[in-house]
Amino acid sequence: MLKENLYQVQENMKEACRRSGRAESDVTLIAVSKTKPLPMLEEVYSLGIRDFGENKVQELVDKAEQLPDDIRWHMIGHLQRNKVKYIVDKVYMIHSVDSLRLAEEISKEAVKRGIIVNILIEVNVAGEESKFGVTPEDTPGLVQEISHLPGILVRGLMTIAPFVENAEDNRIFFSALKKLYVDITNKNIDNVRMDYLSMGMTGDYEVAIEEGASFVRVGTGIFGERSYQVE
Ligand SMILES: *Cc1c(COP(=O)(O)O)cnc(C)c1O
Repeated sequence: MLKENLYQVQENMKEACRRSGRAESDVTLIAVSKTKPLPMLEEVYSLGIRDFGENKVQELVDKAEQLPDDIRWHMIGHLQRNKVKYIVDKVYMIHSVDSLRLAEEISKEAVKRGIIVNILIEVNVAGEESKFGVTPEDTPGLVQEISHLPGILVRGLMTIAPFVENAEDNRIFFSALKKLYVDITNKNIDNVRMDYLSMGMTGDYEVAIEEGASFVRVGTGIFGERSYQVE
């Protein structure tokens, strides 16, 4: 089942790339494995996937300890400052930075360990009250401020689009994030490297790819429904 699901997602990704004239290698699939047990992750790993996304610190740490070292762990959930120290040296990228205070904490812990932590800024493009993320207006300023911190490197932007029946309804948000990304790229801010756009989930990853996503975060489409919903 997992195998068929994964192949279907990969096939859909290819087609979305073809439709939009993009190279397949420009888009990376992150298998969002939150709440799913290790054997399922192992199976997906054995099918060639190396990027996994988790949204809880403890779960990410536990899974990382038990799975192969060449997995790139993506922290995609809301991150509390007091938990930064547990994951800075375990994650490939943190997708959910939405405040200077959180960035300062990541910077502090990174410097302590002599590492550089790659982050994305989470933007609430649709302005949903229930969502974390900075407003599009505040994003360039936040990127600028974070660029002065040591041990942390802004690599791009992330968004969680609204839950919609029709994926097309989210196209405007994906294109708005892309535009913001281009605007910030054009500012050529020192110590900022804009090369990733993390957008698109099970319901809308094809549209996100057409609008420029470089990471799509797919959970349900690979692993099936989660028994409980985690934000
Ligand atoms: C759970 C989650 C996903 C995956 O959602 P699906 O709809 O199951 O694909 C993607 N991104 C974030 C931030 C998530 O929390």
